[in-house]
Amino acid sequence: MPNSLCRNAIFAAALCLTSSFARAQFPQPDGGGLERGVLPARWLSQGNKCMEMPDWQIHEYNKDFYILRQSPYTDFEKPLIFLFFGKDKALLADTGSANGNLAPSLKIVMDRWLARNHRTSIPLIVTHTHSHEDHTWGDKAVQAMNDPAFPVTFVASDIEAQKKFYGIKNWPTDVVQYDLGGRILDIVPIPGHTHEDLAFYDRNTGVLLTGDTLYPGRIFVEHFAEFQESVVRLVKFTEGKPIAHTLGDHIEQTTTPFLDYPEGTLFQPDEHELAMPVGSLVELRDALLSMNGKPRRLAMRDFSIYPMEFGLITREERKHVEAYMKVQKDHMWDPQK
Ligand SMILES: [Zn+2]
Ligand SMILES: [Zn+2]
Repeated sequence: MPNSLCRNAIFAAALCLTSSFARAQFPQPDGGGLERGVLPARWLSQGNKCMEMPDWQIHEYNKDFYILRQSPYTDFEKPLIFLFFGKDKALLADTGSANGNLAPSLKIVMDRWLARNHRTSIPLIVTHTHSHEDHTWGDKAVQAMNDPAFPVTFVASDIEAQKKFYGIKNWPTDVVQYDLGGRILDIVPIPGHTHEDLAFYDRNTGVLLTGDTLYPGRIFVEHFAEFQESVVRLVKFTEGKPIAHTLGDHIEQTTTPFLDYPEGTLFQPDEHELAMPVGSLVELRDALLSMNGKPRRLAMRDFSIYPMEFGLITREERKHVEAYMKVQKDHMWDPQK
């Protein structure tokens, strides 16, 4: 290629890159028209008063988006689940972990939303970030609710059910839209933590749900190559889109950089905030790519990568975890026992 042409090509490429980044920004720091909301300064589960704590902490991000967190006293995973309301439908991502007893708390939110909006009913879609038990344990209870105020359409967490419901033809490369009525969610398949993971991007708030693929804590990677491809695709998906927060399913990191709580920890008084910027997703992608196809454990400032090729944790770590569990298990209850 002659020099001048080459220069032009480089200039065009640079321009293209600039414009693609520019599209993700707003001309003024005025919120960009995204629906605003607040995250809690602290979650109740940072405390240790088990009797004072509800089964689920209901957090109102704004009037049409709710985040619910399971009490640590029913399961140390204390996962977060997410509930969006559109004009025509509501969508719940995940149903929580063992002994979650989600139905009563879910009913409170649904009934209050309907009352506040002077409505008698709204259909509820129940779907998942992925199939692990700490996000699907409450499936049966939610399916059994049978409340005429919010008839449930249940989407199982396997690939075929998700493809069928959302109309995903080419798994995992297609990104499809699902409209709740004045609220479009982009559904992005991101397998790798399991084979079935989905990310959800809410265009109204700019919130990106990343499930167990990115959160402040230990990112367990079951299928490394698939995971890396998904994270690369997800970063590409975010280009040109305003991302207010990426929100994952757990918090396991402390506020101290590079330090997490041992697995099984119930009380996390100094836990990391839930929200991560989209830069953390880029950091995850770059860390994965830097491994050149050779998975290894890597602790970043706000999360760590745990490829499952080496087992969940080492024997030494297991000892540490068991000691922690011994101290904390008296605080947990199991309604089934
Ligand atoms: Zn998981
Ligand atoms: Zn999980």
